[in-house]
Formats: sequence, C-alpha cells, structure tokens
Amino acid sequence: MLTITSRRSGELSALRLFTYQSPNSLVSRASGAAGRKLKVTRRTAYRPTATVATSSLQRRDAFPILGRVIPVAYVELMTFEQPLPRSLSPSRLADFQTCPRRYQHASVERIAQPASYATAKGRFVHYIFEQLFKLEASERTITAARSFLPAAREYILTPEVREEIVLDEATEAKLLVETDTIIERYFTMEDPRTITSEGIELRVGVTVDDTPLFGILDRLDRDEEGNLVIVDYKTGSLPNRNYDSQTFANAELYAVLCEEKLHERPTKIRLLYVSQGETIERTVTEVVIKARASAAAAAWKKIRSYYDDGFFPATPSKNACRFCSFYERCRDAGVPVAPR
Ligand code: SF4
Repeated sequence: MLTITSRRSGELSALRLFTYQSPNSLVSRASGAAGRKLKVTRRTAYRPTATVATSSLQRRDAFPILGRVIPVAYVELMTFEQPLPRSLSPSRLADFQTCPRRYQHASVERIAQPASYATAKGRFVHYIFEQLFKLEASERTITAARSFLPAAREYILTPEVREEIVLDEATEAKLLVETDTIIERYFTMEDPRTITSEGIELRVGVTVDDTPLFGILDRLDRDEEGNLVIVDYKTGSLPNRNYDSQTFANAELYAVLCEEKLHERPTKIRLLYVSQGETIERTVTEVVIKARASAAAAAWKKIRSYYDDGFFPATPSKNACRFCSFYERCRDAGVPVAPR
C-alpha cells in the first residue's frame, strides 16, 4: 500500500499533476491500476477519497496514460528545503504561467540557469543603455554609448559567462558587431538627449491584493505632457501579432507596481525592439491594471498552494519547452516534453 498525502491537508492531491491529461482517462486508468475508485470533484482538481492500493505501482514503475508513459517517480511529492521567494516578479510570473514546474525549478529550488548567447547579449546591451542614461542628458551621444563597450565586456562577459556560452573569438566578435548595430539603430529610434528619465533600472516592490510584487524597470520616463511612460528594451525579435497580449504582460505588471508605489499611473508602455529599430506602444488603462493585478494575485495564491502540496505541475508544450533550461531534467523525470 502506498498513501500519497499532501503535507498541507493530509488528503491525496497528487493527481493534480495530470491536469494536462484527460481527467476521465486518468481516473479510469488510475483507479483501474489501483483497483479503487477515485472521486472527481472538479474537472481540474481530483480529490481521491481513499488510500490507493498500489501493489502494481512500485515507485520506480510507470503506467501508461493516453498512450504516454508517466513514471511514478515523476508524481512523487517533495518537501522543499528552500523557502518560497519573498515576492513575485513579472518574469517569474511569466515562468509560472507558462509552466509551474519551470517556476519550481527556477524560483523555489533556485537551480541556476546557465547563460545563453541571447541572454548574455541582452544583459550586454542593457548595461550599455543603463550607463548611457546615467550621463547628463546632453552627453548621451552615440560616441558615448560606444565608449561603454569595454566596460560591458568586463562586467557582463565574466569568465563564468564566457564558459557557459562557449564564447570564442569569433562569437565575441559577432556579439560586438551586433551590439554596435543595435546602438546605431537605437539612435534612429529616439534621441536620448531629449529624454527626461525619472529612473533607470528602477527597483520597485509593493504588495497588491496580499501579493508581494517586485520588478526592475529598465526606464521610467516623463514625457512632454508630463505623464509617466514605462520603457523596456527588447533585444529579441519583434513579436508575432497573435501574441499581442503576452507581449505587454511584463510591462503592464510594471505599471501596476508604479501605480501602487508612486500613486501615479503610467499612461503608456513603450517597448524598444532595439535589434530591429522598431518601437511598439500601448496605452495603460484601468482595466489592464486591474486584470494584471488580479492575474498576479491568482498566480501567487496557486504558487503558495503548490508549494504547500510539495508539487508544481509541469505543463509541457512545444513553445514552452523549446528554450527551457530544465528540458533535460524534465525529460529524465518522465515529463512528456516534445522532442527538440
Ligand atoms: S522543459 Fe517544459 S515541462 Fe519542463 S519545466 Fe521547462 S517548460 Fe516546463
């Protein structure tokens, strides 16, 4: 006999692991395998009423669900040694919304995610713009921006990062050329000498609806009409229009942070896609602020619940898993990740 219990409630809650499976199929398979009936109380939450007899389910065994084989070890609940993070940032919220298991690995277990060329380039470019905006407005020239390249090499391309992204001479030369192109394109997008910035790399922490939120804004500008504008540099590709609502998600949560902290709502979000030299803007509305705040609060509630249960479900998908740092870990644990 094996009783799977939740640390919080003492009830069996492990079947929530399978929310990406068909509930009926799961229940019939599981109860068939265990020889007991399980009660489904909601479509996505299972509350089995009895201890499950698992004589045929040894811990290292596997049983098929919908043609896939899920190792029993994968459903094992765990007690986290680490405390929950003290706050939720927009990027961690995005992790959780994409795949709770990714949040578990990155934010609860704090498993280091090695740098990639793309993340190193992002940090490299952000560093240069940060230094540029530390200068007096009149000094923010393209020559000044280029003058920060050596410092960026020193502070961002540390020996660890160089090792992680296997930065040989050719790759470093490529990075420098791409950064130079980005600087050139940036100066066609705006003239930093005319910009009034209220803050750069602004750290903001607030509590909204009992949810501790924290974020670091690239830039918070004051426009000519006297309104606050959130500015975010993007070094990736321009988004597909179909993913429009996700494109602004992080920045809209920054707007929540600003409103709560400064008691002033930013009126606009400006995303600078510096690799392409394109800017995308969106107006901030009350509806957006409320929706983002309530999505964050709902996620935080779930995070706490999963943490207490000792389990964050994995929701593998082609898009989510493709660039995920935990791909091998999940695959080895039996999560049905799509082949890369
Ligand atoms: S590899 Fe896929 S399933 Fe695993 S944590 Fe990443 S996104 Fe989630």
